[in-house]
Amino acid sequence: MKEEIVREASRIVGWNNVLLAPEELVPFRYDASEFKGELPSIVVMPENEEQVSELMALSYDKEIPVVLRGGGSSLTGASIPAFPNTMVISFSNMVKIHEVNIIDSYVFVEAGVRLDDLNAYLSQYGYMFPPDPASSAVATVGGCIAGNSGGMRGAKFGQVKNWVLGLNAVLPGGDVIRIGGKTLKIRQGLDLVSLIVGSEGILAAVTSAYLKIWPAPERIARVLAYYDDLSYLMQAVTKLRESKLVPLVMEFLGEGLLDAVRRVYGDVIEAKGRNLLLIDIDGPEESLRRYVDKAIEALENEGLILYKIPETPEEMERAYLARRAAFPSSLKIRKKPSERVLVSDIVVPPSKLIPTIKEIEAAIDRSGLRAPIGGHVGDGNIHSDIFYDEEDEDEKRRAWKLLEEMAEIAIKYGGSVSAEHGIGLEKRELLKKEMKSKGSLKALEIMREIKKIFDPKNLLNPGKVI
Ligand SMILES: Cc1cc2nc3c(=O)[nH]c(=O)nc-3n(C[C@H](O)[C@H](O)[C@H](O)COP(=O)(O)OP(=O)(O)OC[C@H]3O[C@@H](n4cnc5c(N)ncnc54)[C@H](O)[C@@H]3O)c2cc1C
Repeated sequence: MKEEIVREASRIVGWNNVLLAPEELVPFRYDASEFKGELPSIVVMPENEEQVSELMALSYDKEIPVVLRGGGSSLTGASIPAFPNTMVISFSNMVKIHEVNIIDSYVFVEAGVRLDDLNAYLSQYGYMFPPDPASSAVATVGGCIAGNSGGMRGAKFGQVKNWVLGLNAVLPGGDVIRIGGKTLKIRQGLDLVSLIVGSEGILAAVTSAYLKIWPAPERIARVLAYYDDLSYLMQAVTKLRESKLVPLVMEFLGEGLLDAVRRVYGDVIEAKGRNLLLIDIDGPEESLRRYVDKAIEALENEGLILYKIPETPEEMERAYLARRAAFPSSLKIRKKPSERVLVSDIVVPPSKLIPTIKEIEAAIDRSGLRAPIGGHVGDGNIHSDIFYDEEDEDEKRRAWKLLEEMAEIAIKYGGSVSAEHGIGLEKRELLKKEMKSKGSLKALEIMREIKKIFDPKNLLNPGKVI
């Protein structure tokens, strides 16, 4: 990168907010996916929106590609540079929580705030920001908006798109837009907030947001139910949905993931049963027992091995952590350091979970690979961690084929190739496949045209999504 650009970027953010040494830049080649990006030429850490705007103007003027970076926990390669000579804008210095308004039910925050920090802050008011990706310890508001993230409470509260009231964002070239607002309802012509939510950093840099907040649950009961046969577990999920109970959390861990989690959280995870269904039911003290009884009725079938209700706050917390840590725990079952993981993220209507799981298990068997499954089963979202040795070309080919087959199964049952992790680098071809099979290639054309309007020089996160 030319010296004058480095000098100008450093003038904008100050030298102490610039990374230039190769050893400082290397981490930005990676996110949580299996991809390795290009080494960026510079990482800048602005402290406010004006600085983001100046940086975006500089990038536009000098035609420098930009990648926006939150916690770097993307599982699809969304937050790494696909091209050399890139400037990474990290939001690690934009972590202010400006305002909480309980009467109006919003919090106004900067893009770099991590979700766990946000929720810790909101807890003093008895409130929460409901979407909770399992990565919430590192995932940021900006990254979750750009990723339209879901998470463990998805079955009850949906994705981030349901919780964004308004956005401030900087466009390529440096213009600032303020869209949506702090009100619970708004009409402003075409809905640009919805367009930016889920746009994976290819349209605009979100600098701050008005997020809707919700009262934290009064009481939570957690039930861990173990099944050997996955179809019985899925039967319980169906019955739970029929029962009109809407659990706060409905998560499952299949065999391989549960084994991995047992190694780390053996104290709270029973040694019996190959698959685990974890559910949280919330409500007022006086109703909770009745809800739990109703849930247990739905969980009970001839495949249920046992169920447990953790009682102390510590046990409850560890059981939740065990589920959240499923992906990192699964890395413990890697056979060698050259093993990589492709993470499948399909979604189907919950009524199609039983046939979907059967077909997925058959596809995994055919592939001959280890690909443990789990996920946010309450909203039909199934993940599979597909392990392959990157030094073995045949394994690598089979892993990508398996990812594709899972996507085909999801499409066949009226679902999608991605529920919440997004497209990034990983699923560009799968997205095309899905749109083609739905007779909607035109929609992809429209997306490309929209990208050109926001980013005529294709400088913002180029090479991703479309
Ligand atoms: C262990 C683990 C568990 C996970 N569990 C879940 C889960 O349950 N649900 C789920 O949905 N995801 C999950 N993820 C995926 C990931 O954590 C989420 O997608 C998360 O929202 C990414 O946030 P981040 O701040 O790390 O974003 P990053 O990875 O830094 O960036 C993600 C995308 O957002 C863009 N971006 C970042 N900041 C901005 C900004 N300010 N303005 C515009 N664009 C921006 C980036 O360019 C990139 O395209 C998990 C990941 C891991 C590693």
